[in-house]
Amino acid sequence: MSTLVALNPTAQEFVSKPLKMFIGGKWVDALSGRTTEIRNPADGTLITTAAEAEKEDVNFAVIQARKAFEEGSWARMKPNERAKLMLKVADLIEEHSEELAHLDTLDYGQPLSTTLNFPVAAADNFRYYAGWATKITGETHTSSVPGEIFNYTRREPLGVCAGIVPWNAPLMNAVMKITAPLAVGNTVVIKPSEETPISLLRLGELIQEAGIPDGVVNIVTGHGATAGDALASHADVDKIAFTGSTAVGRKIIQNSAVNIKKVTLELGGKSAHVIFSDADYETALQSASNAIFWNSGQVCFAGSRLFVEKGIYDRFLSDLAEYSKNYRIGNGFDESSVIGPLISAKQKKRVLDYMDIGQKEGAEMLIGGEAIEGELDKGHFVKPTVMANVNNDMTIAKEEIFGPVVSAIPFDGEDEMINLANQTDYGLGGGICTTNLKKAHKVANALNTGNIWVNTYNITEPNSPFGGYKQSGIGRENGAASIDSYTEVKNVWIDLN
Ligand code: NAD
Repeated sequence: MSTLVALNPTAQEFVSKPLKMFIGGKWVDALSGRTTEIRNPADGTLITTAAEAEKEDVNFAVIQARKAFEEGSWARMKPNERAKLMLKVADLIEEHSEELAHLDTLDYGQPLSTTLNFPVAAADNFRYYAGWATKITGETHTSSVPGEIFNYTRREPLGVCAGIVPWNAPLMNAVMKITAPLAVGNTVVIKPSEETPISLLRLGELIQEAGIPDGVVNIVTGHGATAGDALASHADVDKIAFTGSTAVGRKIIQNSAVNIKKVTLELGGKSAHVIFSDADYETALQSASNAIFWNSGQVCFAGSRLFVEKGIYDRFLSDLAEYSKNYRIGNGFDESSVIGPLISAKQKKRVLDYMDIGQKEGAEMLIGGEAIEGELDKGHFVKPTVMANVNNDMTIAKEEIFGPVVSAIPFDGEDEMINLANQTDYGLGGGICTTNLKKAHKVANALNTGNIWVNTYNITEPNSPFGGYKQSGIGRENGAASIDSYTEVKNVWIDLN
């Protein structure tokens, strides 16, 4: 029996009661009174319940967000004052970082060694965008029109911005949908995954404690097909930023047509991680393993297609299997755990089904391929799995599995690899392991993907644009890209004659 870290007492208190939604500065139940059970993926136990929003609740939240926007308590607040409040939120996140990490581990199962990073990154993200609040500028244009014309641009907030996020890094995915819109004066309605609302709701309390005016940030909890659909199709929402599957991304585009909402989509991936035979061997092993097994493979940019140069393919796969089979799998509150559970029984079944399909189509399973028995059998644990002799036409090379399963494909030379790596509907992440800098640049330029890591993987920062080519999304988040996507540009012409 493993020893578990005790749940942080404030976190314990937070989940000891049914969770309400944060709308218009008040904590409210769903109008229907309905709730959704929130269960611990490590053992299936009930953690708490959350209000189950439907169309009317979403409408109420949008009305409150619109009211807050029009009243101008945020949009017309001086930028340095907005920045101060956002910095206050960052300080509070830092102060409560252990508690927030514990809530994420409780809710989506990943080890504390993973979730403790998220409050740090969340505070960073609030500080980064607090900095932007005072740096929003327009341009002046020299005019060739006869007479004297003063021609300039202004950047203005869009209005009500909605965010819908998935369950795989609950706090961080949500924060990315809050900070940039707030920096430029928008108001926000955000919906977490029905599986993982807890840390975002606690963040709502911290946002309130920091003094962000009522109605500026609203949190609705509920299911995708009801609350999510109502938010995406609401005619008074000006922008929707969605992170989730490509299938739901398609629906978001359709629903956004109702009022031609601005849309940003961060969708799925099937990222190529390329190991050249000239790579530093140990670095490549660590990188290949980390790229797929971190967060139990529930990562949109996971290096799930592993391309290994033919000369080292057999040795590399055998070492990768050896390296990865010793990861300690367990409850996220056990400090020795490296790999936690998948989010749900449904996700576990989906991942195990893909392994079966892979084998039926001729792939060879080197390690993994089964759920965990014994002490952990009530949780949704799946062992790290390495599938060898995969080719690009197999289902496990084409479809996103979103679990700890890597599909390894041999290649012969740069040109073949580039061709194979780009044969995918997705284009989110990618990795290259080589000691040849010229090759690294050449391949990085040739891969059709939004993010590439060389001799490393899994790094993101608030100042660096993140997003996908092809069916991995539309637009970019982070950095100046988010400021662009949360503002309208107004061009003003003044005749000075
Ligand atoms: P999902 O698409 O099923 O759900 C994501 C969110 O959308 C949830 O909040 C859900 O309630 C909501 N939703 C579901 N149906 C909806 C609908 N019809 N209308 C509006 N909202 C709806 O995804 P998931 O299973 O929660 O997460 C896994 C997926 O997310 C993977 O495909 C993964 O690659 C992707 N993801 C992408 C990124 C990225 O930045 N590109 C990051 C994390 C996860």
